[in-house]
Amino acid sequence: MTRVLNDPTTFARDHLRGFAHLHADLLTAVPGGVVRADAPPAATVAVVTGGGSGHYPAFCGWVGPGLADGAVVGDVFASPSAEQVVRVARAADTGGGVLLVYGNYAGDVLNFTEALDRLAAEGVAVRQLAVTDDVTSAGPDERERRRGTAGDLVVLKVAGAAAAAGHDLDRVTALAERANARTASFGIAFSGCTLPGADAPLFDLPDGLMGVGMGVHGEPGIAEQPVARAADLARLLVDRLLAERPADASDRVAVLLNGLGATKYEELFLLWGEVAALLEAAGLTLVAPEVGELITSLDMAGLSLTVCWLDAELEELWRAPATSPAFRRGAVHAGPARRTAAATPAPVAETAPVTPRAPEVVAVSRLVAGAAGDVRDALAAAEQHLGDLDAVAGDGDHGRGMSRGASAAHEAAARAAALGAGPATVLQEAGAAWADRSGGTSGALWGAALRAAAGALPDDAVPDASAVVAAVTAARDALVRTGGAAVGDKTMLDAIEPFVTVLAEGVADGAPVREAWTRAAREAQTAAEATAQLTPLRGRARPLAARSLGHPDPGAVSAALVLTTLGGAGTGGGPA
Ligand code: ADP
Ligand code: MG
Repeated sequence: MTRVLNDPTTFARDHLRGFAHLHADLLTAVPGGVVRADAPPAATVAVVTGGGSGHYPAFCGWVGPGLADGAVVGDVFASPSAEQVVRVARAADTGGGVLLVYGNYAGDVLNFTEALDRLAAEGVAVRQLAVTDDVTSAGPDERERRRGTAGDLVVLKVAGAAAAAGHDLDRVTALAERANARTASFGIAFSGCTLPGADAPLFDLPDGLMGVGMGVHGEPGIAEQPVARAADLARLLVDRLLAERPADASDRVAVLLNGLGATKYEELFLLWGEVAALLEAAGLTLVAPEVGELITSLDMAGLSLTVCWLDAELEELWRAPATSPAFRRGAVHAGPARRTAAATPAPVAETAPVTPRAPEVVAVSRLVAGAAGDVRDALAAAEQHLGDLDAVAGDGDHGRGMSRGASAAHEAAARAAALGAGPATVLQEAGAAWADRSGGTSGALWGAALRAAAGALPDDAVPDASAVVAAVTAARDALVRTGGAAVGDKTMLDAIEPFVTVLAEGVADGAPVREAWTRAAREAQTAAEATAQLTPLRGRARPLAARSLGHPDPGAVSAALVLTTLGGAGTGGGPA
């Protein structure tokens, strides 16, 4: 439970203000996150990490010489937006290229990949690495599907030390990849965690039971079993990780014992005694082990163990000095102060110059902006319900993310419409604002879909029925292109696909757009409810597929709600 709070929606931004003030010697706030306060030598690789808030010290606690050059700070448990990543990477780059290191979650992958494409288009040499250390989220034959947890620190440490040693971008990336391939983590939860402003945890564990294999976003564990004595707990953790030992591994390992937020250091030390004894009994030498809070999950009680099988090169990088707010090793000397742009709050989106349009066209723009307001209200009212659906097998942030995105979209749309922009510009601005403020998987996808819809609409004329069909078709195509989902994967596409089909058929049969839209939205609702029968094949919910059975997909439910709201928007009529 979060007790120190002004406003849950600004929690991430508000904590960052105090954090950056406190550590002004080490880092500087920039729009989207923080960067090192000192300037590394020109043309060294900038290692940029990031993810949602709620995991401190991941990720902003790891910014400083020898570790990360910058951290992108998203909202609680939500991936930062691509725009945030681009801004932090630009601020961190000294001409040596940028390596983006983040945990493997669908939302982070989408947003960091989009940022990578944008940076590359600007001429920045850029690579990315999604950390995949969590052994419970996929088997060893599917390593690339594993989530990233405390292994983030090992990979980041290796990357940061390699960059500080002056290696080039390819070499830094290769070393970080090797560290990732040789790192495995396994976690246990004793209690759920509660999002700031919420009054109940994302999930509950019955008294006396522990969740084995939980994720650091409060994704529940894959099995529940009675809480074990420390000695047995240590055995459970160690045995699971020893099973991951690579065939060519030496007997030297980096080890992390991580507390998830509400597990006392004394408990961790007690457990460490047991863990260290077992690892040593297995013939391993423990190199510079770390015990403490490394990647937390708000106020979750629980812990995780991480092992990285070292070789000589990785060991040297793991042992190299580093200084950051939350991780220090040896002594490093900071360079001269970096010159960065002042930490002005990030604008919601780059506002494109607006070309004023004819009054009848602007009337449509106002209708679109008004509809965006209705969507915002509908999603705000459904926030709790959507969050609950997402907590079944995901991380519980879907309601808040959609609400945040729709609210930013409405603001941007209303601003553009008030300036006399055409409907395509209004929708374009709405999409950019949605993606930027919402973060997460759904934020990136809705942003891409709205911008694609904008691209199919005229900006200087009143859209006709065929333009409306073209716009929703383009949105659907962008969703598929960006997210890679197919119908039946249990995603928002399962609601959107039948919507597009029924709308297109209705319009082709000569029905007025409003009527066809209403029918299509009803179809979307039915399809969203029917996703309860599916098991998820995409996104965060996939590792907990079985748990999700019987519950509809949150993204499909919210998509149906948006489409239904749009159908009833304005004068009780349709969108065009
Ligand atoms: P996150 O999963 O990053 O926490 P949200 O909770 O906001 O993001 O959104 C989850 C929803 O996103 C899912 O319910 C699903 O409908 C949708 N989703 C996830 N991955 C994909 C994908 N690859 N393609 C389409 N939709 C997806
Ligand atoms: Mg979610």
